[in-house]
Amino acid sequence: MTLDIDTIRAKYAEERDKRVRADGNDQYVEIAGKFSRYKEDPYIPVKPREPVNDHVTFAFIGGGFAGLISAAKLKEAGVDDVRIVEKGGDFGGTWYWNRYPGAQCDTASLIYMPLLEETGHMPSEKYAHAPEILSHCQRIGNKFGLYDDALLHTEVTALEWDDANSRWIIRTNRGDAFTAQFVGLGTGPLHVAKLPGIPGIENFKGHSFHTSRWDYAYTGGSPEGAPMTKLADKRVAIIGTGATSVQAVPHLSRDAKELFVFQRTPSSVDARNNGPIDPDWFDKISEPGWQYKWLENFAAHFSGIGIPEVDLVADGWTDMSRRMRAKMVDLPPEQMNPAGILAAFEETDHQKMEEIRARAEAIVNDKETAERLKAWYRQLCKRPCFHDEYLQSFNNPNTHLIDTDGKGVERITEKGLVVAGKEYEVDCIIYASGFEVGTSYQRRSGFDAVGRDGLKLSDYWADGMRSLHGIHVHGFPNMYIVHPAQGANLISNVPHNLVDSAKTITAIVSHTLQSGHTTNEVTKQAEDDWLALLSTGMGMIIGGTECTPGYYNNEGHGWEGTPGALSMGYPAGAVAYFKYIDEWRNNGKFEGLAFA
Ligand code: NDP
Repeated sequence: MTLDIDTIRAKYAEERDKRVRADGNDQYVEIAGKFSRYKEDPYIPVKPREPVNDHVTFAFIGGGFAGLISAAKLKEAGVDDVRIVEKGGDFGGTWYWNRYPGAQCDTASLIYMPLLEETGHMPSEKYAHAPEILSHCQRIGNKFGLYDDALLHTEVTALEWDDANSRWIIRTNRGDAFTAQFVGLGTGPLHVAKLPGIPGIENFKGHSFHTSRWDYAYTGGSPEGAPMTKLADKRVAIIGTGATSVQAVPHLSRDAKELFVFQRTPSSVDARNNGPIDPDWFDKISEPGWQYKWLENFAAHFSGIGIPEVDLVADGWTDMSRRMRAKMVDLPPEQMNPAGILAAFEETDHQKMEEIRARAEAIVNDKETAERLKAWYRQLCKRPCFHDEYLQSFNNPNTHLIDTDGKGVERITEKGLVVAGKEYEVDCIIYASGFEVGTSYQRRSGFDAVGRDGLKLSDYWADGMRSLHGIHVHGFPNMYIVHPAQGANLISNVPHNLVDSAKTITAIVSHTLQSGHTTNEVTKQAEDDWLALLSTGMGMIIGGTECTPGYYNNEGHGWEGTPGALSMGYPAGAVAYFKYIDEWRNNGKFEGLAFA
C-alpha cells in the first residue's frame, strides 16, 4: 500500500481542529444537583443498616478489580480482617454499573479477568460478556470471604490519618466512622459518569438515562442479551460513539423501532473475532503459572520494547506490535535511532488506520454513511474499538447515523435533538457520553485524603501527582494507591497493573506486621528520586495535543500544567517495570520506605 503521509497528516490536523473547544473538560455537565437521578442505582435497592464504628487491619476503598485483587492477596497472606467499602450494591466496580446490552471485555478474557488460576475459572469466550465478568467478581468475593466484612452501597466521604493512634479514620455517607491500620485506594479511573453539555439538556420531556445506569425497566430485555421488546415501538437516540456505544448500538439497532446514532467523532472499529474457548485447548495451556505468562507476553507486545516472537493473545491490540516488529527487522542500521523508530511507528499506524477506514467502506453499504464512519486520527489518539456488528448496524433501514461533523449535538428540545438546524423527535435519549477524566481526583473519589499534620492530598498534588511506584505518597503513611500511573503505565490491560500492585502491597503489609512495626511511609527523598527517574523517559504514551480531542488528551488541551502532567510511567517500559518491582518487593529491603 502506498501512503501519502503528508495528506494523511493534513487531514488528521484538519479533523482535530474542527473539534478542539476552548471549554475543554468544562463542556461536560457534572451529574449532581438536578441531574442526580442519572447516577441512582437501577439494579439493587439500597438497604438500611446501622453505622459501623469498629477497627479493621486493612480497609480498601473501591470494590472493583483493584479492591478485589488486593483484598484476595492480603487474605491469602493471612491478613484476616480486610474490609472493602464500595458505592455499588455488590462487588464489580465498572462491571457492576455497566450492564448495557452487548457489554463485554475488550482485551482477551484470559488476561483481562483476574485470578483465573486462583479461582479455577475458565472464561467461556475469548472476550467474555459483562454478566460473566460480574459473576467472576462475585466468585472472587465468595472464594476469599470478602463479603463478610464489606460495606456495600457505601461511599467514603472522609479519610484522615490519626497520628496519635497510627491509623486511618474513615467516614462514609452511611454514618460510619471506623478505623483501619492500612488503607488501599482503588476508586478507578472511569467511574463517575458525565453528561454532554448540550444546550437545553434539561428540557427533554421523554425518557433518558446514561449507559452506566441502563434502564431495563424502560427498554425491556436483560444484560444477558434478551431482546429489549419495549423498544419495538420507540424512536431511540444514542449520543456518543465511543467504546460503550460501539457495543450497545448493534443491540439497539436490532430492537428499537428507529435508532438515531449522534456522532461527533467516529471510533476506529477493527475486527473482533470473538468465539468460545475450547475446554480441551484450555486444559492444554493452563499449566501452573499460565496466567502470569500470558500477562507478561501481552505486556511485552504492548510496551513495544523487546517484542517477543510468540504472540499468545494474537488480536487487534497486539497486531500493531507484530507489524512494528516486522518493520524493525527491515530497518536499515542508519535508521535504528529514536527518529527512525518513531517514523517507522507512524508509517505502521497510517497503514493500520487506512485498513480500518477501508473496512468501514467495505462493510457499510451507503457510501456517504461509510465516509462519515471513517476515523481520521492515529490509532492510539482514542480508545481503539473492535466489533463485528457495529458497522453492519448502519445497513439496517431503521438505523440512522446523524453525523455532526465534529460539532456535537446543537441543542436538545422538549421532543428531541437538533443537528444542523434539523430536529429529530425521539422517545428516549441514551447518553453514551463517557466518564469524568481530568477533573480532580478528590471530586471523582468523593473525599480528599488528609495525611500527617493535616496535609491534604489535593494540596500535595496541586502541581501534579507525586508518588513512589504510583503506590506510596510521602506524608500519607500506610496508604496505598492501586492504579497504573507512575508505575508500569500499561493502559491496554489495566488488570495486570492491579495484580502486580496487589502483590507489592501484600508484601509490604506482611513485612510491617511480621516485623512488629506499625507504619511504613515513603521518604521524601525516595519519592523525589522516583519522579526524577520517570522524567528521563518519553512521558505518557498517549495524550498529545496533535490528537483529536478526547479524555486521553484532556479534551485536546494536553496535560501540561495539570495534576495529570506527571502520570508518566517507568522509562524502560512496562515489562522492565514489572521485573524491577518484583525484585524490589522480594529482596526484603523495601528501599525508599521508612518503617516505624
Ligand atoms: P467515551 O468518553 O469514550 O465516549 C463519549 C462519546 O460521547 C464520544 O463519542 C464523544 O464524542 C461523545 N460526545 C460527548 N459530547 C458530545 C456532544 N455534545 N455531542 C455528541 N457527542 C458527544 O465514553 P465511553 O463510555 O464510550 O467509553 C469510555 C471508556 O470506557 C473507553 O474509552 C474505555 O476505556 C472504557 N470502555 C471499555 C470497554 C471494554 O473494555 N469493554 C467498553 C466500553 C468502555 P467525542 O469523541 O467527539 O468526544
